[in-house]
Amino acid sequence: MQRKQRVNNNFSGINKIKTAFIEKGILGSATFICSPNCDARANEADISLLVIHNISLPPGKFGGDYVQQLFTNCLNPEDHPYFQEIYQLEVSAHLFIRRNGDIIQFVPFYQRAWHAGQSHFRGKERCNDFSIGIELEGSDDQAFTPEQYEQLTSITISLMRHYPRITADKICGHQHIAYQRKTDPGPEFDWSKYFNALKENLKN
Ligand SMILES: [Zn+2]
Repeated sequence: MQRKQRVNNNFSGINKIKTAFIEKGILGSATFICSPNCDARANEADISLLVIHNISLPPGKFGGDYVQQLFTNCLNPEDHPYFQEIYQLEVSAHLFIRRNGDIIQFVPFYQRAWHAGQSHFRGKERCNDFSIGIELEGSDDQAFTPEQYEQLTSITISLMRHYPRITADKICGHQHIAYQRKTDPGPEFDWSKYFNALKENLKN
């Protein structure tokens, strides 16, 4: 018997979007590039938080491969003065959403990506232990693109279905779990647009 499929070719709005399957910890719509900056979770069942970030390298410049070079420990400190400060950081995120909506996955969800650093959420420390980290290519002072909101919404729904402990009240920004150190995703990230799109799509 054929399974009923919901097909939607209208990508102009954020109201109805496609979601991708997650298999073996990998999102079907992502290109996978392996980051060594991760380790095992104590328990995959602990996954109960989604953390939104922004990053661009050099800061404020979009395009290029510097973020993936950072996350794979291949960033050349000679390429930009700022890189000398960061090239030895061992960091990663599960997903990176580019300005055009392309998605790169660096760490399978069942592993712990090193994205949050020292952090706490509702009294629980070490958010990396129980969270999934998504980086939006961007900066605190520039609006994110419609393609990024669309992909982020789609990914969030896939993750909520796959990891039911991630509920709408368990989605936050890096700035909310490390507020003395971090400011991302910053004031340009439109939380109400994102949550409204989530709400609309979760009804379907
Ligand atoms: Zn961050």
